[in-house]
Amino acid sequence: MKSSRQTTLRSQVTVTGIGVHSGTPVSVTIGPADINSGFVFTRADREVAAIAASVIATDFATVLGDHQGAFVSTAEHVLAALRGMGVDNATIEVDGPEVPIMDGSAAPFVDAIDRAGIVQQNAARRFIEVLKPVQVELGESFGELRPYAGGFRAELEIDFANSPIGRQAYAFDLDADSFRRDISRARTFGCMGDVTKLWSAGYALGASLENSVVFDETRVLNTEGLRYADECVRHKVLDVVGDLALAGLPLIGLYRSVRGGHKLNHAVLTALMADRHAWRVVEATEPVLERPVVARRARGHADVAGGMVAAAFAPDVS
Ligand SMILES: [Zn+2]
Repeated sequence: MKSSRQTTLRSQVTVTGIGVHSGTPVSVTIGPADINSGFVFTRADREVAAIAASVIATDFATVLGDHQGAFVSTAEHVLAALRGMGVDNATIEVDGPEVPIMDGSAAPFVDAIDRAGIVQQNAARRFIEVLKPVQVELGESFGELRPYAGGFRAELEIDFANSPIGRQAYAFDLDADSFRRDISRARTFGCMGDVTKLWSAGYALGASLENSVVFDETRVLNTEGLRYADECVRHKVLDVVGDLALAGLPLIGLYRSVRGGHKLNHAVLTALMADRHAWRVVEATEPVLERPVVARRARGHADVAGGMVAAAFAPDVS
């Protein structure tokens, strides 16, 4: 994330696994994309941009689609890896209706990005800066985006009463090294009772202890145990990074949630986008300095820390 220029992948890399919902083999190929294209899912001759307006379901995973219907499910972990590792533009080609679940984390996609390599492009990196708080309550869940000059930060709290998961909290400042080390390996999780219900409804047919941390009432059922003591809340952070990648640009802001999930993440992002006074597009100045400075343009009125100035063009992301 230190680059002030946009980045993409140097080459294409394919990752193959099974779809968590179908249980059948699927592949995803991530590769280079032009400046200002963001993340675009493709399959055959159809493509869907990874933006909030493409979200058509958030029940068990984030599902993207268009007027033709659902296009790709379980988009969030590959998006988290791309955004988390500081990639701005990429094509994400799928050969089936979902991205492979792999081990339930973003680590296999981070490995793929490492194999592809990241290259800088000849355009300044653009961000969406949160200008005022937006808040959403959904049942017992609460989420908000607030202005935050230091980049992107997530503060999450989860509370699973009557479960060994219990209450966990995590605060995360996004940069590629921290994402790789502290977040990318955290796996999807669930409770045995919920998984059984999903199976009988025909969902999550590919879910297993190979790609999910599963708890019963008293303990974790995976023989290898947890990757982090607080792996569940870290996975929620991973999902936030992936779900908020649907802003279309990296965010400068603070995301807070309590008992959140895909539905809440999407609702908060949608609320932000709907209020044109709540955000603006800014672009990075070059070079990025060691210490954040306030940069100003003669006719601008930027007061953002971090070496950014207000974009000289109108916001074009919705
Ligand atoms: Zn997830």
